[in-house]
Amino acid sequence: MFAAEVDRLAELAAAASGADGAVELEIAIRTAMLSLGAELLQGLLAADAGHRGQVVDCGAGHDAQFVSYRDKKIDTVLGSITLPRAYYHCPACGCGVVPRDTELGIAGASLTPGLRAMMAHAGAALPFARATALVNQCAGLHLNARRLARSAEADGTRLAEINVAEAQAINRGRLTPLPPPAGDLPDKLYIEIDGTGVPMRPDQVTDRAGKGADGRARTREIKLACLFTQTRCDDDGRPVRDGDSSSYVATFDPAADFAPLVAAEARRRGADHIRQLIVIGDGAKWIWNLAGERFGEATQIVDLYHAREHLHDLADHLAFITPDPARWRADRLKELDDGDITAIIDAARAYPLIGVKATELDTKIGYFEANAHRMNYAHFRDLGMSIGSGAVEGACKSVIGARLKQSGMRWAVPGAHAIAELRCQDASGSWDAAYNKINNQTRAG
Ligand SMILES: [Zn+2]
Repeated sequence: MFAAEVDRLAELAAAASGADGAVELEIAIRTAMLSLGAELLQGLLAADAGHRGQVVDCGAGHDAQFVSYRDKKIDTVLGSITLPRAYYHCPACGCGVVPRDTELGIAGASLTPGLRAMMAHAGAALPFARATALVNQCAGLHLNARRLARSAEADGTRLAEINVAEAQAINRGRLTPLPPPAGDLPDKLYIEIDGTGVPMRPDQVTDRAGKGADGRARTREIKLACLFTQTRCDDDGRPVRDGDSSSYVATFDPAADFAPLVAAEARRRGADHIRQLIVIGDGAKWIWNLAGERFGEATQIVDLYHAREHLHDLADHLAFITPDPARWRADRLKELDDGDITAIIDAARAYPLIGVKATELDTKIGYFEANAHRMNYAHFRDLGMSIGSGAVEGACKSVIGARLKQSGMRWAVPGAHAIAELRCQDASGSWDAAYNKINNQTRAG
């Protein structure tokens, strides 16, 4: 069969001419190789049809009786194959049992784990229709977009569940992450936290107030943490993020469920061993609650650029009464850079306002009062610390926005959560590890 195929391809090669012919030829050879590979795979896998005696355990402790061999069509990275598998039936549960499917990781599925991972990787990177077209073209397959989307979302959901369980095990001390290799322990571990809105279908936001014309929200917030380490500063004394040291955690769940995920990731990243923990965020209260509860020993820093925005807002508010508004603003920005928050508060309190203006002023000053200890910027700089949340803000765009916030997209929470989970794993450089977890869990049944 192989020899005949080679002869046929050689004939094709002889007849091929020009660039068109060359393309046709290489695709023809790939098609032939894939079909040869599929045949080989089918032969190897079919050699054991999973007959494990007349009776097997159904999984719930009953005897399932062998009934017959049944064929199943399975899609693989080499194309479709058909496998005969021993089929058992449990009268007590009324369910079928196929030991071979469990062994191959295809119980209740018609895609091999290898193909699933490929589809999920493409679906995490690109909108499903384009991802499907790309996989089909590059891998010589014939998948449809609906199936790719379903499979990718199912894997992302399963991965999120696995990671929640793993986080629980780490936080309860039942699972201890390996300590980082001694000797080259980084000096600082950063946990930058932010949230960003993901556009939702109307039925996903019915219970939420928002900024839409009808008073409804258009988006749901996904919470994102970016963890990275820092070992050194550059020649100008600016902190340098360690290369390839960023990992990401994201969820649409409330802060109370986000916190254990972040805590577990921090421990996984060596929080118990690294000297200095630093949490950076904008002024959002939930971030500082999380930091206080989970990372009591960490230095908390309000992102300098958010603080500056608030200062501009304060300066605008007082511009009508300060003698030289531009000067006033510049002086306060300088104080902010120095971390002299008391001076800012005193300067803003120097003008007696009344009514609404006074109430608004209290709110604006309140931001600085509440966060003063998180704005000690000169001190933080002296310690070689980063004082901006650029890493997580960049991740809001690259990890979340680039895939989930494309024009015209409307998500349901579970699908968006699943794809965000896959993208976090990919961006963290732990794609293969994630798929090992999924496949191990599938095989464990
Ligand atoms: Zn049973």
